[in-house]
Amino acid sequence: MPPALRRTLDFLALPGAALLAALLFQEAADPEWGNMFAALPWLVCLAGGALAWRFRIGNMVMVFVALAAIHTVLEQTGRQTYTADTLRLGAAWYWPIMIAYLAAMPERGLFNRPGLERVAFVVFPALMILAIAKPGTETFWLLRAVVVDTNATRLHLPDAALLLTLIAAGCLLWQFHRRRTPIETGLLAVLLLGVIGIAVGDSRVYRAIYFSTAGAALIVALIQNSYRVAFHDELTGLPGRRALKSLLNTVGDRYVIAMLDVDHFKKFNDTYGHDVGDQVLCRVGRVIANVTGGGQYFRYGGEEFTVIFPNRSLREALPHLDAVCSAMAATPFTVRSKDRPEVRPDGTMPITDPSKAAGTQVTVTISIGAAEKSLRYPDWEAVMKAADQALYKAKQAGRNRVMADGS
Ligand code: GH3
Ligand code: MG
Ligand code: MG
Repeated sequence: MPPALRRTLDFLALPGAALLAALLFQEAADPEWGNMFAALPWLVCLAGGALAWRFRIGNMVMVFVALAAIHTVLEQTGRQTYTADTLRLGAAWYWPIMIAYLAAMPERGLFNRPGLERVAFVVFPALMILAIAKPGTETFWLLRAVVVDTNATRLHLPDAALLLTLIAAGCLLWQFHRRRTPIETGLLAVLLLGVIGIAVGDSRVYRAIYFSTAGAALIVALIQNSYRVAFHDELTGLPGRRALKSLLNTVGDRYVIAMLDVDHFKKFNDTYGHDVGDQVLCRVGRVIANVTGGGQYFRYGGEEFTVIFPNRSLREALPHLDAVCSAMAATPFTVRSKDRPEVRPDGTMPITDPSKAAGTQVTVTISIGAAEKSLRYPDWEAVMKAADQALYKAKQAGRNRVMADGS
């Protein structure tokens, strides 16, 4: 599967699954169950808020607060004193703006000045909507002037609010492209299901279903994110050693282990500084992540990487490893600029000032050793040791090459 397609699917999987769950839920629900369902979104928001709190992600706590807020606002719909149109239009405007805002703001916690400003920014408009909707039976004049006459669509939402939702979804897509965390996909799910919940607002049950599912999807995303943090390496974004161990313990009886090591990596650090070394590692990680043949890749540690080919023989895996090795040597690495040369931990300076080296093209090569599960190597520890020995031979033979065990 092309990486771009896989990334798009990654982005859409959770929102799609959440939408499907909500539709099934809606099919099964009885519209008479209003009172029973009304409490559900608050419960989900409470659980989600507590979880986000535990993970110290203040912005996500605020998303649950905002979700609970629009649910509270729309729960007033049935009450005589509130104007239903104003409540719904207010919510339809409030929701995409809040999601885009909370997605865009850097994480700062809650109990400090920026955090409290954020709380105010989320809570105050919801109170405003309630205040405006309170007095009359008519739609608040300002909202009517700005949004009602833009022709409520079949979804009972003003076009402008739908446009805002699309813009917010676009912002999330852009952020996903940059950060690639499950948080953005969770926010997309919560945005879309929230908007649908506002649009089906005539039915209390359906609204509660969409809001609860939206909150549940964000909870799933938070858990996925904590898995990512625990199992992925921070620098390269590749799965780390913990993920490697969990695959090796379950991989079955036929597989290949390849150990990959950057050639003369110490020289990059010494010549350009540790930061450029880190850039090189990220580059190497990206090239390895394009491995074909079903190879699963990991950062083993330092400048060493591991690729596992489940259900493949050594002969089948070798062409894919050769391809990684050649791809690495074929694309020169360009040193990116840095304002200041970095002082090394021992107090000395890199030989080359990285800001002067910016733009310099250097070639990065890797050596690879590979071995397969066999009678000779009965467990993964033995296979890995054999792969390491093959790697050593590849280094001895001049680097920038793949060496198979036994050759
Ligand atoms: P060889 O071709 O034999 O593999 O030579 P080498 O220089 O790559 O091997 P060596 O094991 O001597 O050096 C590895 C260096 O990798 C030493 C260490 O300072 C550096 N290193 C390990 N982890 C990191 C990291 O996360 N970032 C950076 N910048 N350097 C790292
Ligand atoms: Mg090494
Ligand atoms: Mg090395």
